[in-house]
Amino acid sequence: MASALYDRAREFVESAIGPMEQKPRVIFCSTDRCFQSFGLGLRSAATLGKAAIVISPRAWLPHYVRHEMIHHIQNERLGSLKVWAVSPEWLIEGMAYSLSEDPRPVLSEPWQHDRTQFEAWFRQVGKERLWQEAASL
Ligand SMILES: [Zn+2]
Repeated sequence: MASALYDRAREFVESAIGPMEQKPRVIFCSTDRCFQSFGLGLRSAATLGKAAIVISPRAWLPHYVRHEMIHHIQNERLGSLKVWAVSPEWLIEGMAYSLSEDPRPVLSEPWQHDRTQFEAWFRQVGKERLWQEAASL
């Protein structure tokens, strides 16, 4: 189950936004206690720089795994500091919600706005120039 989720998400994300330099380590927690041991609070999943992705028991779903793998590639392409502190939120989260094909038609804010803003920007920029343009924001 976890390995199928992992493989499908990786294929999906690499065809959407390009190859990963390194395969991410993904910890699939089957209990809340496992997830809480990472100190991540109320989130459903998290990407810890390039070190690891942690998936809570609530997030064993394709779009959650794809979302976190997109953050992994962002860390590789843009650098963790930029992703964490410099790049605009609409770029980082909007890209993750949009290109993971999150099935929710309306997300809670600010994510809905982030996704809309990213999609408008991405239509102008296109896949070929995605990382170059993202790095300049
Ligand atoms: Zn995210």
